[in-house]
Amino acid sequence: MAIDLPVLTRDILKSDDHLVQSFADLNALKQQGARTAIVSAKGTMVTDSDGNELIDGIGGLWCVNVGHGRREIIDAIRDQLETLDFYSTFYTFTHPAAAALAQKLGQLAPGNLNKVYFGNSGSVANDSAVRILQHYYRRLGRPEKRLVLSRNGAYHGSTFLAIAMTTPEYSKGWDKADNMVHHLKKPHYWREGDGMSEAEFLDMLMEDMRASIERIGAENIACFIAEPIMGAGGVIVPPEGYHRRAGDICRAYDIKFVADEVVTAFGRLGHFFASQDVFGTTPDIINTAKGLTSGYQPLSATIMSDEIHEVISGPDGVFLHGMTYSGHPAASAAALANIALMEQEQIPERVRTTGKLFEKTLKALEDIEIVGEVRGSHFMAGIEFVSDKQSKALFPEAMNIGMKVARRAQARGLIARPLGHILILSPTLILSEAEIARIGDILRESILDVMAEVR
Ligand code: PLP
Repeated sequence: MAIDLPVLTRDILKSDDHLVQSFADLNALKQQGARTAIVSAKGTMVTDSDGNELIDGIGGLWCVNVGHGRREIIDAIRDQLETLDFYSTFYTFTHPAAAALAQKLGQLAPGNLNKVYFGNSGSVANDSAVRILQHYYRRLGRPEKRLVLSRNGAYHGSTFLAIAMTTPEYSKGWDKADNMVHHLKKPHYWREGDGMSEAEFLDMLMEDMRASIERIGAENIACFIAEPIMGAGGVIVPPEGYHRRAGDICRAYDIKFVADEVVTAFGRLGHFFASQDVFGTTPDIINTAKGLTSGYQPLSATIMSDEIHEVISGPDGVFLHGMTYSGHPAASAAALANIALMEQEQIPERVRTTGKLFEKTLKALEDIEIVGEVRGSHFMAGIEFVSDKQSKALFPEAMNIGMKVARRAQARGLIARPLGHILILSPTLILSEAEIARIGDILRESILDVMAEVR
């Protein structure tokens, strides 16, 4: 049965509809109804309800890695649903798609990360990792080892625990389970490293980590959680060696290292996983979601070491954790087809070239007076705007400079994501060189327009 979707008119998009939108100014939506309805998508492009074709500069939401409308993934989902629409992975039940995907992830993940717990979002993957590690230490007779070290600038999701692990700006005025989480300093050299060399800044960060552990007591800390490159906190690439040294500190204090690779895995940085191949660390747990299915189905994976699994699968104790849709057949099939496509088309390998070109193209925008820093790696980019390059002073918050640029870019055919005074780009990984150049041109024209307006 074909589902009859309404043709989205301005009226449907206006204030009186029923959809509560994430991270939106709900009052502004009510007043202005200024929404963008995306009605179809193909390859690197999406089409809005007015028929405008736009380059999807944010890959859905850091997730449509292989591009939109890939027949292979759509067919795999349909075939799976026709064979087995749903069965759970609770109790003794399993099914071929989840089992095959877990095995494949065990092969792709570094080191002895071989055991996989599926969820349906990045937030759930991060919550699951903490619950699993608390359970792990309890089984080792150390129930007090339950706290989490996170970082200012981090984004780990929106469930109660994930938002508590996220940088506090994301929960301003909202309650959260923050008695379990301690935030370390943000590893952003350009903004926070004044007067220090990058090496000194890194030493300072490591000293902050060590001192925090000493103060809290390693005997109370279960894990350190970190994105290899912070994403929604503004695309922050840590100083060279940061993750290796943080990993060494974790090992020295018997604190588990959880890498939140919800964004950085599945090709975005040129590898299936970034922890080992880009940053030289093998965490105890890698969490991933988004690019795992390229967004075609909701799915996350908490990939843990054999050692952790050995402890939680010992005698006496049921694994009291589960989501109905953990390892959903259609989502698992989507992930298997997505990974097969990435392997066939060597997408991570190609990103090592095209992603570098993207990086270079955007970096060139730093010659514009109001562009303070262009940062990121491969297909993760952040552009930070300043009112004064020398002092790095920001424009007034109310000016919403990122939004101003994003609106201009969208009018020229590019979707980018504003985040206060930062603009984020995380496109599909299949952009052509011409499309990369076009993105560079649109951004330049849009930023210059806004500069003329605000100067
Ligand atoms: N971790 C990171 C690094 C993310 O960027 C996100 C979402 O953007 C999450 C976790 C949360 O994932 P989800 O929105 O699927 O819960």
